[in-house]
Amino acid sequence: MAVKVTLNPEPVAEAEREKLLEAPVFGTVFTDHMVTAVWTRAGGWEQPELGPRRPFAIQPENAVFHYGQQLFEGMKAYRGVDGALRLFRPDQNAARMNRSALRMAMPQVPEELFRESVEALVRADKNWIPGQGSLYLRPFMFADESFLGVRPADRCIFCVIAAPAGDYFKSGAAGLSVWVEQETTRAAPGGTGEAKCGGNYAGSLHAQTRAYEEGCAQVLFLSADGSGQIEELGGMNIFFVKKDGSVFTPALGTILPGITRASILALLRAEGTPVSEISYHFDELKADVAAGEIAEVFVCGTAAIIASVSRLKFDGGALEIGEPGPLAARLRATLSGIYTGAVEGPQGWSV
Ligand code: PMP
Repeated sequence: MAVKVTLNPEPVAEAEREKLLEAPVFGTVFTDHMVTAVWTRAGGWEQPELGPRRPFAIQPENAVFHYGQQLFEGMKAYRGVDGALRLFRPDQNAARMNRSALRMAMPQVPEELFRESVEALVRADKNWIPGQGSLYLRPFMFADESFLGVRPADRCIFCVIAAPAGDYFKSGAAGLSVWVEQETTRAAPGGTGEAKCGGNYAGSLHAQTRAYEEGCAQVLFLSADGSGQIEELGGMNIFFVKKDGSVFTPALGTILPGITRASILALLRAEGTPVSEISYHFDELKADVAAGEIAEVFVCGTAAIIASVSRLKFDGGALEIGEPGPLAARLRATLSGIYTGAVEGPQGWSV
């Protein structure tokens, strides 16, 4: 279903846009256009439309405000060394969105509709990609039906917006302090931890507030079963590197299956680096740090790519990891290269 295109007759003036692109703070500047597509249970998907970015007109009783039936994705477009525009593994975002949709009792978004919508927006707003940066794309879907009552909505809106992105962390990619949350949890077995739905993030904000108070940029969540199994950050997955060179990351189950995480695993496996997906507990991490076994800790996700962790703070103490390590730097360079076409990645990753 081709996207119906109506370009914004009043785009942001070029001089103003250039100024906004000088040092965009992540998630605060948005482009001239958006794509929307409406789904109804009776009629299925209507033709997606690209038009000027504008507010939605939504009744106060809309189901999304009350029951939070919604989901989202996050991906980036890059302008390559050759001037071409590239997406990184968009098929993976489309597939994850549909797994989230299944969990949230929302309609499947055909991959073609997803891809054409994202590509149409990148084409329309390509002038919003900063010189050294990328265009963050936010596909999302929400219930759009006026009713109070707990049941899946009969009408949903799929939408894509875009935001120019520079560095995610104000401090750049080096030396994050992370708060290890031991009071609240993010996801339980059978819950929605694997889905990219807003509720997971709303439930994480209490801990995020504490993290800021503690001088930390991010929260590391532990499992809901009380065993202290390490899961993931509020918006990123986590990797550990041992002194012997082995690499591991928490196994999937109640965490978001990050596309950056999966790509790092694939790259490491392809080069023969021993890497495993395991159950690893906070007590084990404490013991490993005390024994000098941990060489690096780094976190990964579309927005920040890869960032090294220098310190893990928790109620009653802190684990000092130290200076950013070489594996995080190497992987960051490889992934950045694949994103922009400077490095050739596996078949089909760069589109
Ligand atoms: N975990 C959570 C909770 C996230 O929000 C994200 C960001 N999408 C990630 C992990 C990393 O996923 P990805 O590599 O696909 O961006």
